[in-house]
Amino acid sequence: MGEGKELKEKLFAKKECGWNNVEKSEMDEIFRYADGYIDFLNKAKTEREAVDVVKGMAIAKGFKCICEYDELKPGDKVFYSNRGKSIYLAVIGEEKLEQGLNVIGAHIDSPRLDLKPNPLYEDGELALFKTHYYGGIKKYQWTAIPLAIHGVIVKANGEKITVNIGENPRDPIFTITDLLPHLAIEQMDKKLRSAIDGENLNLLIGSIPYNDKEASERIKLNTLNILNEKYGITESDFLSSELELVPAFNARTLGFDWSMVAGYGQDDRVCAYTSLTAMLNIERPKTTAVCILSDKEEVGSMGNTGMESHVFDTFISELLNKTGENRPNLLDKVFCNSKMLSADVGAAMDPTYSSVSDRYNAAMLGKGVSFDKYTGSRGKAGGSDANAEFVAEVRGLLEENNIKYQITELGKVDVGGGGTIAYILADKGMEVIDCGVPVLSMHAPYEVTSKYDVYSAFKTYEAFWRK
Ligand code: MN
Ligand code: MN
Repeated sequence: MGEGKELKEKLFAKKECGWNNVEKSEMDEIFRYADGYIDFLNKAKTEREAVDVVKGMAIAKGFKCICEYDELKPGDKVFYSNRGKSIYLAVIGEEKLEQGLNVIGAHIDSPRLDLKPNPLYEDGELALFKTHYYGGIKKYQWTAIPLAIHGVIVKANGEKITVNIGENPRDPIFTITDLLPHLAIEQMDKKLRSAIDGENLNLLIGSIPYNDKEASERIKLNTLNILNEKYGITESDFLSSELELVPAFNARTLGFDWSMVAGYGQDDRVCAYTSLTAMLNIERPKTTAVCILSDKEEVGSMGNTGMESHVFDTFISELLNKTGENRPNLLDKVFCNSKMLSADVGAAMDPTYSSVSDRYNAAMLGKGVSFDKYTGSRGKAGGSDANAEFVAEVRGLLEENNIKYQITELGKVDVGGGGTIAYILADKGMEVIDCGVPVLSMHAPYEVTSKYDVYSAFKTYEAFWRK
């Protein structure tokens, strides 16, 4: 090696493709892990389904509801389901909780379309559902694709009906129609933002009229009659429902080389799955390990299942009560001593749209888990900025464990921005850094990740809880 080359080797930061130098056995492991992940994506397309799947996986590994414990000791594994829409898990450590917690927090809600409270109507001899979109979507991406309906209908007497239709190949699917190009001259001239009106995201659900010519609104009537036979509901029961439209297609392997995953809801179920599976491998850690799988991140984290709610504080207080440590104001101290990886996806640089990325600071697909030291927009406004000391600590941990990582930024300065739940836990006094898997086509009905990065996130979360 020449002298300059040697010096470069010594001084330059290495940002190499993760797939370089991956041995056959590790490759097999990465692909095997991705199969489990794809399976998870297909079973957990909504926050409620994710909680159910997570609970099942946790119970199989010895986790119990915190309500089943009178007291907690090191090695105990607990979870708390917050109204079936978010869930917190913990493995009690050897040290007192007062010393701090190691927290990893992801979210299990994803952009989608929700049904309105009064969704059903008939127009032009068709039955349709009105929708209201949830989270940051590009509306045109949700037309002319197969959609499934997932969620719950709760009757006034409290009876809860679970709905999941459009996933089984024998199920019907639903779709939002779009204008044919032949007649779309006006639409095509509009800005992408306004080409599809929010009020035009109407779901096509039926077209056969009820067989009584005397009745009016016969197609709506026929649809309601079918729903009444299938679910035992009447139109009023939609008032107390949460029905979500998600893509009816499955997550799949992408690429001739099988290197990527394409699927709906990878923001942020990729970090939910990787942190969960890491937690399921943790036995008797030194520091108590806590996993947050939160709801409502995509709309600002509010509400009692979002991260802004104090239910998480109550969960940690319960841990303090049941380990027998609690005393006045201890919770604040616990939070100030805690460290957190805010596990959320990053924006991978897209070669087709590279103009929005600063290529020196962009996350690249396949270069491993990506850390955003800060988020926010226009001068870091509204973002959470990790302290250099904590970044150094995390870097040290990854380097010690030979995990490839990238420290990145969402996009070019002043081009846009974003945020995660990081600031909420930072507000409580924790050291927090954003850390997750780079994604292409983020928030689209079909998002893309690299299997290498997915596995790298899993290894990172495992190392963080094991340290
Ligand atoms: Mn996210
Ligand atoms: Mn998002």
